[in-house]
Amino acid sequence: MTSFTLPKAYNFKSTEKRIYDWWESKGYFKPANDPNEPGFDPNVEPFVISIPPPNVTGELHLGHAMFVSMEDLMIRYQRMKGASALWVPGTDHAGIATQLQIEKALAEEGLTREQIGREEFLRRTWEWKEKYGGIITQQIRRLGASCDWDRERFTLDEGLSQAVREAFVRLYEKGLIYRGPRLINWSPGLRTAVSDLEVEYTEEPGKLYYFKYMLAGSDTDFIPVATTRPETILGDTGLAVHPEDPRYLDFIGREVVVPILGRKIPVIADEYVDREFGTGALKITPGHDPNDYEIGERHGLSVISVLDEAARVNEQGGPYAGQDRFEARQNLWKDMDAADLVIREEPYMMSIPRSQRGGEIIEPMISTQWFVRIQPLAEAALEAVRDGRITIIPEQFSKVYFNWLENIEDWCVSRQLWWGHRIPVWTCEACGEIVVSRQDPTECTKCGSTKLIQDPDVLDTWFSSGLWPFSTLGWPQETPDFNYFYPTSVMETGYDILFFWVARMIMDGLEFTGEIPFYTVYLHGLIRDENGRKMSKTYGNVIDPLVVMDELGTDALRFTLLVGSTPGKDMNLSLDKVEANRNFANKIWNATRLVLGSLERVAQTPMPNEETEPVPTLADQWISARLASLKRDVERLFQNYQYGEAGRQIYDFFWNEFADWYIEIAKLQLTEGDRQAYATARNLVQVLDTCLRLLHPFTPFVTEELWGHLKAAAGNVNPPIYPLLASEWEEALIVAHWPETTPENPWETQAISDFSLVMDVVRAIRNLRAEKNVKPKQYIPATLVGGDHTVVLQRQSATIAHLARLDTEKFTIHETMESKPDGNIALVIGSIEAYLPLEGLVDSAEQRIRLEKELTETTSQIERLETLLASPFTEKAPTNVVEKERSKLFTYLEKAEKIKSQLETLNES
Ligand SMILES: [Zn+2]
Repeated sequence: MTSFTLPKAYNFKSTEKRIYDWWESKGYFKPANDPNEPGFDPNVEPFVISIPPPNVTGELHLGHAMFVSMEDLMIRYQRMKGASALWVPGTDHAGIATQLQIEKALAEEGLTREQIGREEFLRRTWEWKEKYGGIITQQIRRLGASCDWDRERFTLDEGLSQAVREAFVRLYEKGLIYRGPRLINWSPGLRTAVSDLEVEYTEEPGKLYYFKYMLAGSDTDFIPVATTRPETILGDTGLAVHPEDPRYLDFIGREVVVPILGRKIPVIADEYVDREFGTGALKITPGHDPNDYEIGERHGLSVISVLDEAARVNEQGGPYAGQDRFEARQNLWKDMDAADLVIREEPYMMSIPRSQRGGEIIEPMISTQWFVRIQPLAEAALEAVRDGRITIIPEQFSKVYFNWLENIEDWCVSRQLWWGHRIPVWTCEACGEIVVSRQDPTECTKCGSTKLIQDPDVLDTWFSSGLWPFSTLGWPQETPDFNYFYPTSVMETGYDILFFWVARMIMDGLEFTGEIPFYTVYLHGLIRDENGRKMSKTYGNVIDPLVVMDELGTDALRFTLLVGSTPGKDMNLSLDKVEANRNFANKIWNATRLVLGSLERVAQTPMPNEETEPVPTLADQWISARLASLKRDVERLFQNYQYGEAGRQIYDFFWNEFADWYIEIAKLQLTEGDRQAYATARNLVQVLDTCLRLLHPFTPFVTEELWGHLKAAAGNVNPPIYPLLASEWEEALIVAHWPETTPENPWETQAISDFSLVMDVVRAIRNLRAEKNVKPKQYIPATLVGGDHTVVLQRQSATIAHLARLDTEKFTIHETMESKPDGNIALVIGSIEAYLPLEGLVDSAEQRIRLEKELTETTSQIERLETLLASPFTEKAPTNVVEKERSKLFTYLEKAEKIKSQLETLNES
């Protein structure tokens, strides 16, 4: 009977990898209905998620752990519900991030990429990718991700490169791709354009510099102007004032002189100028500021670029040519001061654009780049969410999405990097013809010359990730996978990349496949530390998911992330929570041991020859009713994407109802033997089996392990005690069916309400026992006065006595009672009264010492909580956390009162 024995404690270390390898080797991660296999049924509904591809350079962080846990939950749930579930994994080549890694390694050898050349550089990068690119996917496996690894893709693999080519050429042929000078975000350190979304704005102290723009031909008249970046004065090509500003009306249409350089520029009127800000006059630098660029375009101002690729002042900067931007700022200001052009400086908080990668200050610069004309794509993408073809969860992010797409600007897609999809554009050296082609051309389409030069740039990484949901399924080929699995079902990702990625996939999906790429966008929140602060290396508060998995197990980490999450809302993570959930895994383990023990017991006693099934006890009915209600709640919550709440409810049911109550009662019922024992064991198996199924998407490892033991043990009982025959247990929990719900039945409500009376009575007596320090082994007398509930209580007297440890010889239940028994402690439980003769059981001197000690402890808790609640904690912590602390305080205050009154009673006697 080895199948009944379960080790005492759950050893996740020896379990997780074994189970994962087993799942994978059995092919459970593959879709049940595969269009590439015989027997494929096109009518079976697929459920598909494309993984947000992590950077191939990446190492697992909590953001990955979050999306992997969430997507795995969705996939496991749908798989168990019978959908043909497919989760497509893969990685992103991550242009800048990867290139920087290789350049760093080169630097250690004293080399630069220019020195070794493009070909060698790419060779080394691929070599690096082959060596280290699998780390992140191995780490994702550790989280239990049930991805179909046979379908793993890489954004630079052959198929995806072909998709990128196809997409670029189609856009070009439709006139949606153009090359031109435009103001872009320039990263001087990386010497490449970066997207708007890769720029982070931080509030930093700076200065506002006030100076004079002298009117041309005058030594005295000037317009005062303020700027935060004096070096851009060198690139000014106009000065703007509001058309109705009386201070400057006379200046409009005249010219002012650029300090030091002496260039004359026009004073223009534009309503964009804010009269209240600074001096009400705005210097216009179209070459280095996006707003100025627009104003300049409106007024036909010339564009002067004064910085080179490294953000040094170029030849346009006169005497400052060759100086770094910040050096030039100081020198120019010094010279202006000497020329009496400076008015004053004042401290100023400004919003500084910094590179997401590296943190250096980004310069808006004019550069010739490739652009996608985004307007037509954006229109279609807006429509798809407006008309409900795509649902964004939580709904409030739809507004953010609309707002962003309504104001979207053309997308600069070229990057001055080597690692990435090279732009498929060739220029003929002989005739200047531009050739854009799906295949590398060998000769000019116009003059036949073979001297073709390919554009040196690569495409923005997001160009390929925008195609991800369909390129990974085989597009542009009409593969069986593409035909069956596309559009995908859910796009699950952090709300922080709604624009970066999600909006682009929607635009691209509609443009290239004519269909939405997914039906639902589910956005999870970001993970912060336990105090709600962003996790960062600088704060030293980063939690490493790999360490957490090593120490507390994967299930504990997953459960914490999943149960703590609410769509679109950030969550605070503390290791205490993970530890508590590790204890939950142990609780499930221990409960299963008890259930297996009960099976062993019934398996050893022969099945009695009685014809009739025993009538279910109230506890049996109650647990069945609660289980039925739990299944309905979980289903409803899952349908509404409230996975966190669903997890909390399963947890509460398992711990507080099944383990703490039903299993305890079952111990008693099992002692009755015969049919009753069989029926009880069957209930235990049924509830546990259902709970393991419901918990599986949250905590896949421990549930799979225990379910295997349960299956083996239940199969050993003969005749079978479970509705399932031994042969009807599925192969594995991961592919077992999801519990079906049943409509609510009136007997369920009755059972729940009757049993709650039992629970209330037992709890009250247990509390009193604890309060009076009655030893657990001591069985005490009790008298209950039940009123209307007398019949229910009488039927449950054995259960109550068992759970409350009452002396059955001295336990009576009456409907009414004329006079209260003397020397008893009275308890009032709703309309039920209980009398317990506890006075004599405890020595009063001993009791006084205990009560005083307890009062001291309670008082110190009260003081601690009062201090906490008077602190800024109440404003910073989430409301529910504050509420919890408040209610703790309330409970302690009540307790203190009770202890005091008991002490008084003791003193009187
Ligand atoms: Zn040519």
